[in-house]
Amino acid sequence: MTPLAAHLVRRIAAQGPIRLSDYMAECLLHPAHGYYTRAEPFGAGGDFITAPEISQMFGELLGLWLAQCWLDQGAPGRFVLAEPGPGRGTLMADVLRATRRVPGFHAAARVVLVEASPRLRAVQAARLAPWPVEWADTVQALPEGPLFLLANEFFDALPVRQFTRAGRGWAETLVTVQGGALALARGAPRGEPALAHRLADTREGDVVELCPAAPPIMAEIAGRIAAAGGAALVVDYGGWHSLGDTVQAMRRHAPAGLLDTPGEADLTAHVDFEPLAQAATAAGARAHGPVAQGALLERLGIGLRTARLTEGLTTAQAAGHIAAMRRLTHPDEMGTLFKALAVLPAQAPPAAGFAS
Ligand code: SAH
Repeated sequence: MTPLAAHLVRRIAAQGPIRLSDYMAECLLHPAHGYYTRAEPFGAGGDFITAPEISQMFGELLGLWLAQCWLDQGAPGRFVLAEPGPGRGTLMADVLRATRRVPGFHAAARVVLVEASPRLRAVQAARLAPWPVEWADTVQALPEGPLFLLANEFFDALPVRQFTRAGRGWAETLVTVQGGALALARGAPRGEPALAHRLADTREGDVVELCPAAPPIMAEIAGRIAAAGGAALVVDYGGWHSLGDTVQAMRRHAPAGLLDTPGEADLTAHVDFEPLAQAATAAGARAHGPVAQGALLERLGIGLRTARLTEGLTTAQAAGHIAAMRRLTHPDEMGTLFKALAVLPAQAPPAAGFAS
C-alpha cells in the first residue's frame, strides 16, 4: 500500500466515503504524497510524454500563433505571457526561443507560470533561466493586463466528479473502504441541478463527468481577455459534451488501476470543451473551435518546420523529427484525440488555424 493509500483508508474509515474528485485531488496534489508534488512524471523515464516533450516544434508553432495574435491586436507594450500547468517548462522554453525574433515581443512580455507544485516550480526555474519568470498560485492571481496564455494538458489534471444516471437522478462515484482496501462505490441517486440539462440526452446507466474547477478558471482567463485583450489556446485530450467514464490512471506509460497506487500514478480525465467554451462566451470573449491538434499544427506549418529541421540531416538523423511530426498530427496518434480551443476578444481578427 502506498503512503497515500494508507492515509486515505484511515480518513475514509473515520469520515466515510469521499467523492472521486476528492480522491483525484489528494492523489495529484497532496502536499507530501501527491503525484505532482512528489515525483518526476514526465518524459521517457516517467509515466507519460506530453506534446512539448515529444518535439520542440509544438512549442515553436504555438508560440508563433500567440505572437501573431499579439501583433493582430496592435502589439500591446506590456502583456502577461502565462502558462498554467507548465510541467518541466519545456513548452515555455520553446515559445521563448521561437519568438526571439518577433520585434518587441520579449521586451513586452512578463512571463508568469501558474504551478501548484513547489518541486515543479524549481524544475521550471532551472529550465527557463536566465529568464525572470514569476509564479502565481492561481489564474485569479495573475497580474493585470493583456493576457496571452497557453495551456497544454492542464485542464485534464483537474479533478472531476462522476455520475451514473439512475432514473431521474444521478448516483455519484465515490471512493470507499472495503476489507481494509480502497474500493469504488456509488452514492444514492439524487437530483443534480448541474446535470439537469443532461436528462434530455442520457439514458439509465450512462456516465457523465463534471469538472467543477474548469469553468471558473476559463471564466477568469476569458474575462481578462475580453476586458484587456489577449488570446488563450487550450490544448488537451477530450471532446464535446461529456459522456462516458474517462478517468484514467497512467504509470510508466501503461494504464494502471485507478485505486492501485494512489500518489504514484497520473490521474486524468478527458476534457469536456463544451463548458469551457460556454464559460468563455459568458465572460464576454469568443471561443473558436475546438479543432483537432493535427489539423491545427498542419495549418500552422508543421510540415515546413519538419522539412527545415531535417535539412542536411541523414535519413537516420531526420527520422526522429519525422516520427515526432507523425505522433503529434496523425489520427492514430495524438492528431484527433487532442484538440485546441482558442479564446479571443469578441472583436479580434480570426486566429491562424481556426476557421472563422
Ligand atoms: N503542460 C505540461 C505539463 C502537463 S502536467 C506539458 O505539456 O508537459 C500538468 C501540470 O499541471 C503539472 O505542472 C502540474 O503540477 C500542474 N497542475 C496540476 N493541477 C494544478 C492546479 N490545480 N493548479 C496549478 N497547476 C496544476
